[in-house]
Amino acid sequence: MKRAFNFNAGPAALPLEVLEQAQQQFVEYQGAGMSIMEMSHRSELYEQVNNETQALFREIYGIPDNYHVLLLQGGASTQFATIPMNFLTPDKVGAYVMTGAWAEKAIKEAKLVGETAVAATSEAHKFNRIPALSDIQLPDQAAYLHITTNETIGGTQFAEFPQTGNVPLIADMSSDILSRPVDVSQFGLIYAGAQKNLGPSGVTVVIVRDDLVKESPKTIPAIFRYDTHVKAGSLYNTPPSFSVYMVNLVLKWIKARGGVAQINQYNRDKTKLIYDTIDQSGGFYYGFAAPESRSLMNITFRLQDAELEKKFIKQSEAEGFVGLKGHRDVGGLRASTYNAVPLESCKALAEFMAEFQKNNG
Ligand code: PMP
Repeated sequence: MKRAFNFNAGPAALPLEVLEQAQQQFVEYQGAGMSIMEMSHRSELYEQVNNETQALFREIYGIPDNYHVLLLQGGASTQFATIPMNFLTPDKVGAYVMTGAWAEKAIKEAKLVGETAVAATSEAHKFNRIPALSDIQLPDQAAYLHITTNETIGGTQFAEFPQTGNVPLIADMSSDILSRPVDVSQFGLIYAGAQKNLGPSGVTVVIVRDDLVKESPKTIPAIFRYDTHVKAGSLYNTPPSFSVYMVNLVLKWIKARGGVAQINQYNRDKTKLIYDTIDQSGGFYYGFAAPESRSLMNITFRLQDAELEKKFIKQSEAEGFVGLKGHRDVGGLRASTYNAVPLESCKALAEFMAEFQKNNG
């Protein structure tokens, strides 16, 4: 079997070692006479997986004791709605930093729940950068400030995070969670769909500070309340058990590679190969994101004309590259270089790009 050079934006590449381990345990998990998918989520074996996954998250990300780690369903899109449902009370304003398509989806849901405000935006630059932190204006009575730490479509990433004092900072980290060390105590809530850096789709991780959980209005349905899931230890209803198990394996893989700081260095080495190729191409390739906002997870770039981009995609596919077509909103090309994308794939892409330029430049 030849593995593709997988640059998909999500669902995305998983570590081969993790897939192989899952394969070994696929039919029977730890002598139970059945797979993990077939056992009760109330069984001792599954409870171990659930608890260990949360504990591994704490350990790897340095999550303080006054935070809960929740493993939920519904994707990050459900969090766009449940965040305002839980925290945007009638006397308050949900503040959002507008960085692109995902931030827009988040504020759209909040508008259905309560009052919102744009605290800063880079729309004037077609969202090719993260607004300067000094431009962020918090409204009075801010319930929270919401940021999208990595915009998957535009390929921009916050290099550092705003200081919000007593106002909780809420972060959609769907496309960069566990890709670099962060100080979790800066945040009130962090959330991420699993299908980029954590595992397969189906599970959403929410890291939430205890005092915020206690504030949820009593009027919202139980399933949408954070305190419901905190009290039940993420076993309020049937969890996406196989996805959680896969996240468990991915967390162990990160740990075995030395943790998040090492992963971050690896991601830097990987993306440098591709960004350098863009920067040294004399304008044959040009990046979409402003250099200071470049993402280590999604590299967005273009060629001089659309025909050439089509040719690039076609030829790259013939050579085993997958997922390089940019999102329809920004066009061009995108290479997603999440944690599990190996350096070898990035090296192969950089070489392909240089060769393509030689033949078409
Ligand atoms: N936020 C970001 C930054 C994303 O990249 C995505 C998915 N691409 C989402 C939210 C939506 O995630 P989901 O499909 O899990 O709802």
